Amino acid sequence: MSKILVYNTLTRRKEAFEPVEPGVVRMYICGITPQDYPHIGHARTYVAYDVIRRYLEFAGYEVFYVQNITDIDDKIIAKSLETGKGWREIANYYFSVFLKSMDRLNVKRPHVQPRVTDHIEDIIRFIEGLIEKGFAYVAQGNVYFDVDKFSDYGKLSRIDREKMMSAGEQAPGKRKPYDFALWKAAKPGEPWWESPWGPGRPGWHIECSVMSSKYLGSQFDIHGGATELIFPHHENEIAQSEAYFGVKPWVKYWLHTGLLKIRGEKMSKSLGNIIPIHELLEKYDPMVVRYYLASTHYRSVIDFTFEALEQAARSYARIETAAGELANLLRKLDLTYRPREEDLKVYREIVEVRRRFVEAMNDDFNTSKAFAELHRLVSIIKGRVLANPTYMTAVKAFDVLREINEVLGLLDHVFTQAEPEALPSTQLVELLLEVRQIHRDRREYEVADYIARKLRKMGFVLEDYRDRTIWHYRPRKS
Ligand SMILES: [Zn+2]
Repeated sequence: MSKILVYNTLTRRKEAFEPVEPGVVRMYICGITPQDYPHIGHARTYVAYDVIRRYLEFAGYEVFYVQNITDIDDKIIAKSLETGKGWREIANYYFSVFLKSMDRLNVKRPHVQPRVTDHIEDIIRFIEGLIEKGFAYVAQGNVYFDVDKFSDYGKLSRIDREKMMSAGEQAPGKRKPYDFALWKAAKPGEPWWESPWGPGRPGWHIECSVMSSKYLGSQFDIHGGATELIFPHHENEIAQSEAYFGVKPWVKYWLHTGLLKIRGEKMSKSLGNIIPIHELLEKYDPMVVRYYLASTHYRSVIDFTFEALEQAARSYARIETAAGELANLLRKLDLTYRPREEDLKVYREIVEVRRRFVEAMNDDFNTSKAFAELHRLVSIIKGRVLANPTYMTAVKAFDVLREINEVLGLLDHVFTQAEPEALPSTQLVELLLEVRQIHRDRREYEVADYIARKLRKMGFVLEDYRDRTIWHYRPRKS
């Protein structure tokens, strides 16, 4: 197994990755609150963790991935009051939009997607435990975590005392403004559940402590989310869990994804610059969006612009075309089978690309370097393999491309239709392109363009050179 370094927010440095149980990775990523259309910032976060998850699987780990759904919360309740729709209906609707967008972005689904409202009993038991251990107290139907009782508070965010004081609000019976609610007493008109402290609902932070440990155990490997969650959410999760289980550390590695800005500004309702992901996917190929989001290192800020997305579309097309042509070449078997001296050199260059790709990903999942290696491979494919095809270099390039795709997930369609029968008659397409080339040679561009237009409509991607046209087939995705 290769040695992976991960940047741990808890220690603020890169550490050698060694899971609690050898060979197994347990990871928990904070999920969405389905109260509105998920936006491109959400997509950035979950694409980033998808690549991390895929790389750990590629490296040979068995990955168990849990991502929660906050299906009850202040904003969902507000939306329910505003629209007259039930909170459950609202949460289900936006979650289904989220799921569909994630599927289109080729984000592998987590193994468990627990919902808060399915885990109320577990949450109540956990809170009872915290009260028994002296870390929580009841005040007028609410239960608060007693921050002063947990001496390690602040170790993740390294927040100073003054900022902490201003972080919370004062309320009747609350000992300190920074104490946070584990259980909230029901207000009139709000959904509620029965509890030992009266009717109410869980606070936000407690669900992640409860649902992660329920599925992953009282100590696990990776916990992540967007950077904005470090304080107070993840700080509070640590306090709850380490107080309850008496373990340290509760989570070995804390990973956080950088912000996505829009033209240098934070996305916000008041600025009106929120880009819902399902709308973006109507206009852009999901693989282009995935390419765009994944090619920046997960901890870096992405400053979104449509120009950059267009640039990504061009870069992606270059990769896709090379991969499609290579698949085609191997299908036709019209190759030299006796390697030449030059081919051995190309073969070694391809091996070197794979080594550097792994090296980049081992260094805290450095996708920006990993994508540079993918482009290097594409250059080798275009300039060397396709220009002067031999079986050995074509097969090796295809294999490495397949491995890289396991991690980056951008070219599945190229590999799923590697079987010749899956293609609309290859020979007929070749024949049509031959006929088209005759027209091109005679400068009969009207006919040549007509054939090209029709083929493109059927899903064939064509790339013209002076004396030939290379092509691959791309199924239309809905
Ligand atoms: Zn969480």
